[in-house]
Amino acid sequence: MLADTIAAVATPPGEGGIGIVRLSGSDAVAIASKIFKTRQGPHFSASRSHTLRLGVIIDPETGETIDEVLACIMRAPHSYTAEDVVEINCHGGALAVARVLQLALRHGARLAEPGEFTRRAFLNGRLDLAQAEAVLDVIRARSSQGLSAAISQLEGKLSQKITVINDSLTGVLAAIEASLDFTEEVGEVSASELEKLKHAREEVLKLLATWEEGRLLNEGLKIAIVGRPNVGKSSLLNALLRQERAIVSQIPGTTRDTIEETLLLGGFACRLIDTAGLRETADTLESIGVARTRQAVKEADLVLMVVDLSTGILAEDKRILEEVTGKNVIIVGNKVDLIGEKENGLKTFAASYPWVTISAREGKGLDELARKIREVVLSGKVARTGEEPILTRARHRDALEKCLEHLNAAIAAWENGIPGDLIAVDLWAARDFLGEITGATAREDLLDRIFSDFCIGK
Ligand code: GDP
Repeated sequence: MLADTIAAVATPPGEGGIGIVRLSGSDAVAIASKIFKTRQGPHFSASRSHTLRLGVIIDPETGETIDEVLACIMRAPHSYTAEDVVEINCHGGALAVARVLQLALRHGARLAEPGEFTRRAFLNGRLDLAQAEAVLDVIRARSSQGLSAAISQLEGKLSQKITVINDSLTGVLAAIEASLDFTEEVGEVSASELEKLKHAREEVLKLLATWEEGRLLNEGLKIAIVGRPNVGKSSLLNALLRQERAIVSQIPGTTRDTIEETLLLGGFACRLIDTAGLRETADTLESIGVARTRQAVKEADLVLMVVDLSTGILAEDKRILEEVTGKNVIIVGNKVDLIGEKENGLKTFAASYPWVTISAREGKGLDELARKIREVVLSGKVARTGEEPILTRARHRDALEKCLEHLNAAIAAWENGIPGDLIAVDLWAARDFLGEITGATAREDLLDRIFSDFCIGK
């Protein structure tokens, strides 16, 4: 048990309806009782767990009333941290909240470090490491799919899967170790144990196959908008931004060459990059732009290639399309408002690529574009039932890949008649990497790194 009691403001800074000061630790109730006086009924420290009490925060030294609040005790182990927790709901002004926190600190609490509440939840066994990370993913989720993947991980779906794989490796290890007492040959260990190992490997591979989609959910889809000058690339970006009022963040471009914006499209958080151009040029500044554009295209999950229907397809459009072959491309015919229903040659130009006609100026065709984006993104992806866990963090992917290497080595060794004690070494290592995901074998520096990403108060 961690002895000291930590405190922090758990709500975001600024004005709000309420602001919450949270305390956790063995003295949480005693400290809160010094500064919180209930209006009526039993003394605060005698409150029932998980019950709100109305009262005032009073500075015991001056007798001054700081705020009228609702406070609640959540007794160990039935709390977020599995320790005694007190939450004080203040009025949401920055000053009231800050003064309540100050009083708590003056009367024996210590200011919590970033993520320390969640770290305690982990250390006390309330959450494993993958679940603790999911807390952060829930907070940061930028799309509804991202949120549901995070919630499923928070509920322990990924951890359960890892535990099942781990348990089967443990079973195989036990069989090998038992056989070592009698013989050097694993061949003697029943063939069904080798089958179990292969099955575990299948499960690891299945999980690894979800990474591509999980990465998209967590990091967002990278989309590069390319096309000749004046076809309406910036207009398209702006039209999408106007339509999707849920702009999540803005990353101002550092140069004039690329501008990046994040928005929700077809249910995915998308990072749209408006590129300068792909034109061969002698102008150095512009050629830097071309290099950046090429880089953006290379990194993109999807390319929107914009053409101008009012000028028709030009040789340069064809050249640009060649430049992006091999990528996921959607051809976007813009300025349809200028030509109406007239035949526009887009279908021939697009050939096997999906295409849409839009008017960035009038906001036409953008829903269709979002639908196409969704189709392209989801095509070729494993259809998920929502029950199966999915990998959303590079850390988990890396650990699973290392686990897979050791499983492959163990299986190959087994099939080549290598002695059991050598196979066991690989199986132990495979299990260690699984343990890194759930935190069973995670080292202190890894924990530091993970929890320092959190905000104070979480
Ligand atoms: P970019 O160089 O590809 O980023 O092109 P811009 O977005 O700057 O647009 C170039 C010009 O085309 C501007 O004058 C826009 O107003 C115009 N434009 C863009 N989209 C449309 C559209 O859908 N219809 C019409 N009529 N004009 C458009």
